[in-house]
Amino acid sequence: MSAFDSRDDPAESGLSPEYAFALLGNDVRMSIVHELAKAGAPIGFNDLWKRVGIRDSGRFNYHLGELEGHFVRKTSDGYVLLEAGRNVVQAVYSGVLTEYPGRRREQIDQPCPLCEEPIEVEVTHRGLARFCKACSGAFGSRVVKGKRTRAERGFSGTLPLPPAAFEGRSLAEAYRTGQILLNLRMMHRAHDICHHCASPLEHEIEICEDHDMEPGGICGSCGVQSGPYQISVRSRCVNCTLRMGGDLGFMLYGRSSWMAYLLEQGINPVTATAAERPSWSHEVLETEPFEGAFRWHGSDDTLKIIIDHELEVVDVTRDRP
Ligand SMILES: [Zn+2]
Ligand SMILES: [Zn+2]
Ligand SMILES: [Zn+2]
Repeated sequence: MSAFDSRDDPAESGLSPEYAFALLGNDVRMSIVHELAKAGAPIGFNDLWKRVGIRDSGRFNYHLGELEGHFVRKTSDGYVLLEAGRNVVQAVYSGVLTEYPGRRREQIDQPCPLCEEPIEVEVTHRGLARFCKACSGAFGSRVVKGKRTRAERGFSGTLPLPPAAFEGRSLAEAYRTGQILLNLRMMHRAHDICHHCASPLEHEIEICEDHDMEPGGICGSCGVQSGPYQISVRSRCVNCTLRMGGDLGFMLYGRSSWMAYLLEQGINPVTATAAERPSWSHEVLETEPFEGAFRWHGSDDTLKIIIDHELEVVDVTRDRP
């Protein structure tokens, strides 16, 4: 065995999603997976049977056999969960297969990145939605129950959080948690990695040709905040269902020039909320092929990054006023 071999890297057999769901659509099997996850160590047949708590050992043995090789493995020390089994239990614990806590909305002590008034946050079926009462916010539409609909004035995006994130946290604490998760996702994305399945991402640059350049409203053409924010990027995973849209700036999150600039300004790129980051602006330099300038306006200078149609950084400069 080489130094790079891992005993936690089982050769799992390929399993179609339909078959995987069918396998787990049974109380005894879910209970076996759950008990193995709780134990966190190999468990012998008799011990596992006792923990699952069914009387008929033949029935128990049948269900355990069905899981073997897919979700469970028999080792010389007893039964253990395979990665696929751990993922199932993770999904159950995170609450994504169950329910979000009841809808609630409150003002928190975080300024709106656009107008600096305190924002309101609301628990939704996707995480924590941000609203500003004082300005028109960042987006004119939002996805509700899978459908894109017109957003209430002041909507400024949703921080992705599974239901378990709200357990034992105030909404202000959940907001910080969601912001960290989003920052980390952006770093994955900027490096072409799907944060769900680690497959490569494909990106498409979109320029709003008729963008409303007067700041302070929502562009009637693209539905994003007006002003110098006319470039967006759509990303999709080549393997799973992940789709992400959003401002070009997030594609630079995690690039060394941008990270170095943030750290120099005393800002932690992992934990910073939207209001704690410098404001930014876009400029389209060329369209065929695309070349754009992205500027971050720090406290005493501006970082300018030029990117090409493949989202590669071509040039980085600093402008002092
Ligand atoms: Zn505002
Ligand atoms: Zn527009
Ligand atoms: Zn993926």
